[in-house]
Amino acid sequence: MPMNLCDIRNIKQTMAMFGINFRKEFGQNFLTNNMVVEDIADNCCDDAQSTILEIGPGIGSLTSELAQRYRHVVAVEIDRGLIPVLKYTLGEYGNVTVINEDVMKADLKALLAPYFEKGKVSVCANLPYYITTPILMMLLESGLPFDYITIMIQSEVADRLCSAPGGKDCGAITAVLNYYGSPEKLFKVSAGNFIPAPKVDSSVVRIKLFKEKPCKPADEKTFFRTVRAAFEQRRKTLPNALSAVFSELSKDEITTAITDCGHDPNIRGEKLSVEEFAAISDVLYEKIQNI
Ligand code: SAM
Repeated sequence: MPMNLCDIRNIKQTMAMFGINFRKEFGQNFLTNNMVVEDIADNCCDDAQSTILEIGPGIGSLTSELAQRYRHVVAVEIDRGLIPVLKYTLGEYGNVTVINEDVMKADLKALLAPYFEKGKVSVCANLPYYITTPILMMLLESGLPFDYITIMIQSEVADRLCSAPGGKDCGAITAVLNYYGSPEKLFKVSAGNFIPAPKVDSSVVRIKLFKEKPCKPADEKTFFRTVRAAFEQRRKTLPNALSAVFSELSKDEITTAITDCGHDPNIRGEKLSVEEFAAISDVLYEKIQNI
């Protein structure tokens, strides 16, 4: 019978056996509820032949559930002290590869190439809070054709990711995310389900990545610049917010770009969909090219 890696006594005993402690600087809050871990593993992907990239396996509680359900698990863990623990807790699984690296520095393309050749690859992670958005952006911008990205993150960030355009929680990350895939909030997990308990509740978000993007901006750099500018100054109207960043264009030129796309000049960026952002960024890009 495999060890219950969500049992608080087992977690503490295993860590004591290897002489390690929870490391706050790595965002180590380990799950202590089997039902939550099983739910995440059940729902992170719908193809048992997939490979799962797990970021931050900790002592391996989610990893072992993933290994029981999917073809292969590649688990990337930054904390060197956890590597011997993972060898011990996951020893019985022949389909787990543990890599000791910072996922932000890892060459994921090379690491995952053999698995993309065999079938689909999805990401599943209980992400460290301190670096949630950079990890998500790195995965999206990597251009790797992941099937799903399922992440446990702070509930507040989950609400922002899953907000509809115009919603009160909508931010630049929402618009950017909707360019890459469609996010869905699966369930909430209260702070009491972790050791040590974090200060805030978490939620699990699953993103189905698009095979075809919903729009094709003429220039992705200008598109992302437009989105970020709109949300950096979200209290301002769109012409004012964009003027603060697109200093190479006059405010009149920016206002015309917005009205030419059929919008009221007083509109705010948070009301726009990803397609509408792309259309405005195309006009801005054309104007910049003609300077
Ligand atoms: N998966 C375990 C669980 O659910 O109980 C642990 C999750 S804990 C919130 C986050 C894990 O990510 C920790 O094991 C931590 O050491 C690891 N981690 C933090 N930063 C990382 C990084 N940049 N690259 C890889 N792993 C990281």
